[in-house]
Amino acid sequence: MAYDVIVIGTGPGGYVCAIRAAQLGLKTAVVEKRATHGGTCLNVGCIPSKALLHASEAYAEAANGFAEMGVKVSPTLDLKTMLKFKDEGVAGNVQGVEFLLKKNKIDSFQGTAKILGEGKVEVTSGEGKTETLETKNIVIATGSEVAKIPGVEIDEEVIVSSTGALALPKVPKKLVVIGGGYIGLELGSVWRRLGSEVTVVEMLDRITPGLDGEVGKQFMKILKRQGMEFKLSTKVVSIEKTAKGAKITVEPAEGGKQETIDCDVVLVSIGRIPNTEAWAPRMSASPPTSAVASRSTAITAPICPAPMPSVMSSRVPCSPTRPRTKASPSPRSSPARRAM
Ligand SMILES: Cc1cc2nc3c(=O)[nH]c(=O)nc-3n(C[C@H](O)[C@H](O)[C@H](O)COP(=O)(O)OP(=O)(O)OC[C@H]3O[C@@H](n4cnc5c(N)ncnc54)[C@H](O)[C@@H]3O)c2cc1C
Repeated sequence: MAYDVIVIGTGPGGYVCAIRAAQLGLKTAVVEKRATHGGTCLNVGCIPSKALLHASEAYAEAANGFAEMGVKVSPTLDLKTMLKFKDEGVAGNVQGVEFLLKKNKIDSFQGTAKILGEGKVEVTSGEGKTETLETKNIVIATGSEVAKIPGVEIDEEVIVSSTGALALPKVPKKLVVIGGGYIGLELGSVWRRLGSEVTVVEMLDRITPGLDGEVGKQFMKILKRQGMEFKLSTKVVSIEKTAKGAKITVEPAEGGKQETIDCDVVLVSIGRIPNTEAWAPRMSASPPTSAVASRSTAITAPICPAPMPSVMSSRVPCSPTRPRTKASPSPRSSPARRAM
């Protein structure tokens, strides 16, 4: 069967787009390589991290903030239950997306999508079976994945990404966060509140480089008050696993005397890179520039699949002159806009 539109990726960009396309009368399908819908945000991003932020803040408030109001309590951390609370939040959200896709009669294919050419999407399942779908339009909503430090293997136990940091089985005594962006800081603050000693290593002379300078300064003050330590203008030279955890060698960003930091767990949080396997060879194996890291579905002009006008991104239009299709009516005149 030929679809009017196939959306690749069912994160917040993809599933919302697919639902709206179906509501506008287009025969719609989605392809998702993850076992559940909802993308990074619902599975390993915003939702689980906010669940842990909320739970760890409640724990810290009970431990430190109630006594001054005359309420004396000594909370005990039950980490297993806290992680279950987070997992239940994720499950509720991803099931909600699945329900909405079904309700809007959207066909769902599980597997990795690859655009073969105009109107053709190949889906390869986990078992390696392939099938080719036909469609008039394709929306790329493939989001991003964790950026890695070349030569450093993320095992999600001792050297973790944000995904592993959402599911540590015990509170690390010492946690080092590499990267002072918002993801590393929020997860670092979760484990700090639960009892870890946390040191953030950041190559620039400030945290949250994408934010206003004054906001970054005030944010760092608040985190310092919570007990987090910062090594700014410091770059990581190497990370080695040891019998007890990891040893990180750092040096001043400008070069100079090296020092080592021992820790139980190291969180590598240096940004994210766009998923491009559906439509382009990987752009680069090197760490992202901040511009790339700060956008998830980074469709930029040089890598846009320009020869196929029926292919579009869920976020950034490929070209201001891209021809309009049924799936992309004029923003001014679209029923979606009029309904808002
Ligand atoms: C720890 C963490 C916390 C965050 N907290 C927040 C927050 O509080 N607020 C906020 O606004 N943002 C937050 N974000 C960012 C947010 O998760 C992303 O901005 C958002 O998920 C981007 O949505 P998306 O639909 O573009 O991509 P994604 O959510 O990444 O979804 C893309 C989907 O495409 C799938 N896919 C990729 N390639 C293929 C392929 N070839 N075939 C089939 N499927 C494919 C992927 O499996 C994925 O499910 C956080 C991110 C992280 C990691």
